[in-house]
Amino acid sequence: MNRNKSFENNKPLIYLVATPIGNLSEITKRALDILQDMDLIAAEDTRNTFSLLSQYGIKKELFSLREHNENEASEHLIKLVKSGKKVAYVSDAGYPGISDPGYLLVKKAREEGVGVSTVSGSCAFINALVASGLPTNHFYFYGFLSKKGNEAKKALEDLRERQETILFYESPHHIEETIKLLYSIFDNRHCVIARELTKINEEYISGTLSELVNLDFKTIKGEMVIVLEGNTQPINQISDDKIIEKLRFYMSLGASEKAAILIAVEELKVPKNRVYKLAQDIK
Ligand code: SAM
Repeated sequence: MNRNKSFENNKPLIYLVATPIGNLSEITKRALDILQDMDLIAAEDTRNTFSLLSQYGIKKELFSLREHNENEASEHLIKLVKSGKKVAYVSDAGYPGISDPGYLLVKKAREEGVGVSTVSGSCAFINALVASGLPTNHFYFYGFLSKKGNEAKKALEDLRERQETILFYESPHHIEETIKLLYSIFDNRHCVIARELTKINEEYISGTLSELVNLDFKTIKGEMVIVLEGNTQPINQISDDKIIEKLRFYMSLGASEKAAILIAVEELKVPKNRVYKLAQDIK
């Protein structure tokens, strides 16, 4: 067990500062005060951070900590903090560590007894969720789906029975493909595309997946979050034993493993990936 009070006896501390996700005014006074007070600001992209800080007249030494150097850069920062330097980390937008670098820095800092404190601000999926009209009491943040179609499909199949509202980050280049994939797996669930949040072109596009597949995707530009309704159907109570029995039965009749899986999926109305896993287990 490890108890760590962030603001005690000038203990070494790294600030993770959330930055605007669009509208540059969305940064708190506390964030600006803390950034102004630092010896060094580590940033995912020093050019972006330079321009944000310039808006507020803050001139600081910047240090690059991005995905490709996260390991070494984190170790360097931790050494600096231990030697008494005041250090903050900011990513390009929103919270560091949320589909952005930051996690490794925090993990290493905690392991080394260095405190970490967050300075609040905007987070794209929180903005999207609370204004989506979908339930906010329980939610599941997935982040970016794999760009590889088969990996994305498998990940989505694994999410099929989740009852929480599900959130994805997406880019304009893949939105059409992703909405079509969502439709093929989640059928006609309600879905919201929340785009350009906090910016002048902010827009919420809400409907069933069968409506959203017909969007003119050329008009869906900018940054976006997909908010998907959770499963509202009763969860299929078919046991693993029942599925295995079915697989063995059809295979004993001479069906190939693939055919037996397809028949079991069809007859028992259970997700294919679940039946596939069980078929691997009984080999
Ligand atoms: N760290 C950020 C956060 O806390 O939300 C997320 C960074 S991630 C690299 C960038 C993705 O976040 C975008 O591709 C988009 O899916 C989402 N995003 C960021 N800003 C957004 C905005 N203004 N409107 C909608 N989505 C946004």
